[in-house]
This record gives sequence, C-alpha cells and structure tokens, in this order.
Amino acid sequence: MAKQPNQYSDIHAWLIGEEIKNEKGDPIEFDSHPFLFDIYADQAKYLTIMKAAQVGLSTLSILKNHFDAKKYQLDIIYTLPTDGDVRTFVGGKVNRIIANNLSMLEDVADKDSIEQKQIGNSMEYFRGTWTKKAAIMVTADRLVHDEKDSSKLDIIADYQARLQHSKHKQTHTFSHPSLPETGVHADWLASDQKHWFVKCPSCNHWQFLSWNTEDPAQMSIDLERRAFVCKKCREILPEYVRRNGQWVAKYRDKPISGYWVPLLIAPWMTAGALIDKFRHPDTTPEFWWTKVLGLPFADGSSKLLRKSFFQNLTGKKWAPLPDERIVIGIDTGLRIDYVMGNIKGLFHHGDCTDYAELDGLMKRYSKAIAVIDAGGDLIGSRAFAERWPGRVFLCYLGGDRKTNELVKWGRGDEYGAVMADRNRMIQIVVDEFRNSRIPVHGTQEEWFEYWLDWNNLSKMKVLDPDTNVVKGYKWVRNGRDHRALATVFWRVGMRRFTGMGSIVQPETEVRPTSYMIDPNQTVSFDPDEMFIKGVNKTLDELEDSDDWRNV
Ligand SMILES: [Zn+2]
Repeated sequence: MAKQPNQYSDIHAWLIGEEIKNEKGDPIEFDSHPFLFDIYADQAKYLTIMKAAQVGLSTLSILKNHFDAKKYQLDIIYTLPTDGDVRTFVGGKVNRIIANNLSMLEDVADKDSIEQKQIGNSMEYFRGTWTKKAAIMVTADRLVHDEKDSSKLDIIADYQARLQHSKHKQTHTFSHPSLPETGVHADWLASDQKHWFVKCPSCNHWQFLSWNTEDPAQMSIDLERRAFVCKKCREILPEYVRRNGQWVAKYRDKPISGYWVPLLIAPWMTAGALIDKFRHPDTTPEFWWTKVLGLPFADGSSKLLRKSFFQNLTGKKWAPLPDERIVIGIDTGLRIDYVMGNIKGLFHHGDCTDYAELDGLMKRYSKAIAVIDAGGDLIGSRAFAERWPGRVFLCYLGGDRKTNELVKWGRGDEYGAVMADRNRMIQIVVDEFRNSRIPVHGTQEEWFEYWLDWNNLSKMKVLDPDTNVVKGYKWVRNGRDHRALATVFWRVGMRRFTGMGSIVQPETEVRPTSYMIDPNQTVSFDPDEMFIKGVNKTLDELEDSDDWRNV
C-alpha cells in the first residue's frame, strides 16, 4: 500500500517518496525542467501560466490535480478546447500516467472513464468547451482551463459559477497566448507576472531571457555565435546559467500568481535549435510569437484595440439638429444599451432600464430610425416597435450564413424586421474604426467605458469539436459587449437610411510583429502603436476607394 498524498507535507515529497513517473515511465525530475519546480508547489487561488508549446505543463497539471484532489479533497473541472482533445488528453496522457504509478492507480479504481475520474473521495471531470453537449452542472473547488486561448471563452466565463459553493474557489488557466489582452494574456496582465531570471557569471547582471532582433539590449541570443548571451555584457551564458534561474515577480500585490514560460528558458532548447526554428520557412510569425516565445501575437483585424478606437475621437461634443436623420442602435438585455449617430459619426451612447428614455429620443429627433435587438427583451422591443410604426426595426443577428446577404430587410408581412450576419457586421465596424472611418464626437473620458465593451470581443478560430480543424472565425465575448452590439445595430440602420452602404473590406494580412514583455515596463513597445502602423498603411491603400462620407 502506497503512502497517501495527505501523508506527505507537499507535492515534491510525494513525487520523490512515491517515485512518480510521467506517461513514458520516466521519473519526474527538475534538471531539465527547473522552472516547473515552483509551479508544482504553487498553492495560489488563481494561477495562470502563459507558455510556449510543449514545456511539460500538462504533466504538471495532471499530477498537481491528482495530489491536491486527494490531499485537500478538491473536486476539479478540467476543460480543454474540444471533446477530441479530452479523449486524446485523458486516453493518451492521464490514463498512461496513472497506469505508470501504482499509488495513483489505487486512488482511481472506481468510476474511471474519459469524462470523469474518482480520486479518493474527490471527482475530476473533463470537458470540451466547443462541445454541443450541455455544460456540466456539478460544483467544483478548482477549475482548470487548459489551452484556454483555443477554448470557447464565453463557456469558460460561465464555468466560474460552478465555484460558487466552494470554500476553495480556485482557478488555474494555462495556454499559449493568442491576441493581446485576450485569454491567458489578459490573466497574465492581471497577475504578478513572474519572469525567469538568470545571472550572468561574467558581469553578475540579473536578467530575463528575451528575443528581439531589432534591439540587442533585448536580445538574449547571438545569431552569429549561435549562443545565449548576456543582454548587458554580451558574453556567452554557459548552459548551467539557464538551469539556475529563479522566478521573479514584477508585481508583489497582485491576486493572481502568473508565470511566463517561453521556450527560451527550457534548458533542452539550444540557441542554435531556436535560430533554426526561427529561420525555417514553415515557421509563421504567429507560430514564433505564440508557440515559441509564449507571447501574444497582434493580428490587426482580430480586436478593436484602444488606439484603433480612440483615433476616431474628435475631442468635442457635437449633436445633430432635431430635424436631421439619425439612427439609434439598441441592444437589449438586463439593461437597454444604445448608441446614436448619423452620417457625421457617433455622438452619444447611454443606457436605460425602461423604454421611456428611448420614446423621448424618438420624439426629440422626428426623423430618427431605431434598429433594436430582437433577441433580447422580446416583449419590450416589440412594444417599442409597435409604438413607432415604420421607424423601429427589429434586428435578428444570425450566425455564419456565408451564402446569404450581409443584411436582409423584411418585405411585405416581414416589414419592420431585418436579419444581419453578426460576425461579418462586427468585422465591418471594427475595420471601419481601425481605418478612421467613423468619427466619434467627444473625449476619451466620455467614450472609455463604451470601448471597454468592444475590448470584450475577440475574433477566434472556430474549431470542429471532433477534428479540431478550423471551420471559420467567430467574434466571441468574454464580458459585457452591449454597447459594441448596439453599434452593430446602428451600423445596420446606417446602411439603409443614410446611404452609408459602402463597406471597407476586412484586412486579412497578418503583421509580422508582436511585442516583448519587459520587467520594468509593461511592454517594451506599445502594441497599439503597431496596430496604428498597420491601419495607416491600409488607409493609404484605401485612399481612392469608396468612402461612405463621400456618398
Ligand atoms: Zn554579463
């Protein structure tokens, strides 16, 4: 009979005491994975790891969950992007690790399946996030979101409710990053931001390892000598230096314990191997940044970044005359969010709890047209439409109807209804902001909260739940997005009622730049700035094309 986890003081004593092995049957050791030692033992309530591909985190997570489930009696929900990922992960990794460790095997004798495992008196559930099946309704003490950035983020957000009745309420996220301020990078930004620091034996300078071909002071690899070098004195760093690193937090008082694990800190990766990878024709910039450096990659069309939006601000208040044609876009939910604008841009946004405020606006602007979300407040929106016949349109945002029209206005019996393609319309509005095509009247203070709703929307790949193949793209929310959707409804109305029909084509080119995390600044250059560069280029290209303001 093996000793139980609760008979050990911590997980490291257990790993050694029970000679725990990985899925290949090799003992867990930290010579080649020194940076994992502290993460194994980290008992933070919120833990986040922004990482490169294949750095040993899955094995860590399996063992950590097993030990903690047993020692602290935690029920755990473990999510992966798809059901196929769950089968591969549990069948290929979890089960093999358990089979290689007698003491673990004793714990899981009952109720052992791909989707759930009993560990002593605790349960661990495995779920895909892109599944068509209903979300699991059990309660948990710990949520683990593996490959968070490939997962469905709104489903992950919904899982937080599963912790409600737990006294532990732990959340672990780890993933290679995708877009800035999204998924694991958003978690990382809220964390204490631990970097793996090494000490140069030549000049004693402590530094973290980074990659920047433009700036030698930020470049830990010498491309000519094919070696890791000190960022200060440029002397070669011997191999042991990376093994002897230590985690240093940038912020002391953040509630999330965060680790950044680039492949640069993995002792088994030589400088030469990394350079070859970097120069390999099949290595895309996105792959290099997200899977090797473990940093977000900025693809300019996938998110409405702050500067892309703020560049549209006029800095002054402005409002049209009461007899001008305006469009009000309205999203309904617990509250009613709306934006107002016309051919000269957006001039107001707000919210209310009943329709009296909207009725007042319809009276004040006698030619106002309203486009209102038909899928939220079913009763209120229809009553509002009936009070203003011919001036209020109920809008249904549909899914990916690739063959259908972008916007379809109802005729005859369906007059007063409009169908719009949600993903394509969001993309159009984002691209128009990025290309400075929608003036926004007012100041940053007046529009910051409005932008926050846009910041909760990101364009994600849609994966087939079974095969993991990319089927398309979808804009997903990870928080409030009501003002953004109100703007989409506004834009639908603008197409028909103000001649704002011409559409800027979404830019699909991927920009080969991302940004570096710096221990003393948040980033070593401003990621937004990079986006603006991309937008300016697009503007030049678009100069001769149709602009809705010229219509
Ligand atoms: Zn040095």
